[in-house]
Amino acid sequence: MLSYQHAYHAGNFADVHKHLTLFAVTRYLRRKPSPIMYLDTHAGRGLYPLSAQESQKLQEHRQGAERLWQARTALAAEPLIGDWLSLLAEAQLTASEGTSPTLDCYPGSPWWLTRQLGAADRLMLFELHPGEHEHLVGQRLPKNVQRIHGDGLKGLLQRLPVATPRLCVLIDPSYERKSEYAEVAETVLSAMRKARHGVMLVWYPLLPAGRHSELLEGLSSGGLRKIWRSELTLRKASSGEQGMYGSGMLVVNPPWGLEEQLVAAMTRIEPLLGPEARHRGEWWVEE
Ligand code: SAM
Repeated sequence: MLSYQHAYHAGNFADVHKHLTLFAVTRYLRRKPSPIMYLDTHAGRGLYPLSAQESQKLQEHRQGAERLWQARTALAAEPLIGDWLSLLAEAQLTASEGTSPTLDCYPGSPWWLTRQLGAADRLMLFELHPGEHEHLVGQRLPKNVQRIHGDGLKGLLQRLPVATPRLCVLIDPSYERKSEYAEVAETVLSAMRKARHGVMLVWYPLLPAGRHSELLEGLSSGGLRKIWRSELTLRKASSGEQGMYGSGMLVVNPPWGLEEQLVAAMTRIEPLLGPEARHRGEWWVEE
């Protein structure tokens, strides 16, 4: 049974890490004109009003997106972060020129992906939770976006290879089941056999139990040529506190130059996220 709802966590530090990385990758891909098929295997609702009861319960955005939002004037000229914040401003329903708008809503991956779509590109959004899918259906999205109520990992494999010259996939599960780490690794390896040049982004949580190692080990032995690994931690794993201490992203076949740009951006936001916040970027697999 699916119980996870992203509205409880929307805009947290992990979303900032994930969506800045997604933004950087898709912006690089846009530089070339050939069409891209984007697949978001775990789409969520698409847009999260932060005044909603779910988001208000934990208010995780206050330790994440809100920190960057408050510093947006100082960050406006920063490469990548400044443009990301401009898009975040576009998402604010109450934003108006000349005022100091509050952060009222936080956009999820479907929204960030939609903003990068060219006319010849396509986007498929998979969501398995009926309620979350219904929310997504309620969003106004361009015609080249398809919303599918179903399993995103199976859906991805069924749709490969794609007809477009390029492919970009985001895999962002809730990891409610322990077996998901291994399932994600197997799916990525199967998908890459069908789409060798595809770019894939995989998010994973850093938890004291260290279950993400199953995902990393599964991928490192699978014959992939290039994987860049980015981890943003709020505190040390050994701090004794329970819960997620960090956020991880893998980028399979990253666009050239991505890592320098992301390391610079993450290093810039570290101090905003807390005194112990640290980012580490490294090649996890490199030919
Ligand atoms: N990608 C979203 C974003 O960045 O805004 C957040 C996604 S949230 C972490 C994970 C979502 O995956 C939840 O909405 C959950 O209902 C959905 N989900 C869980 N298992 C799934 C599956 N097998 N296929 C598709 N969606 C699934």
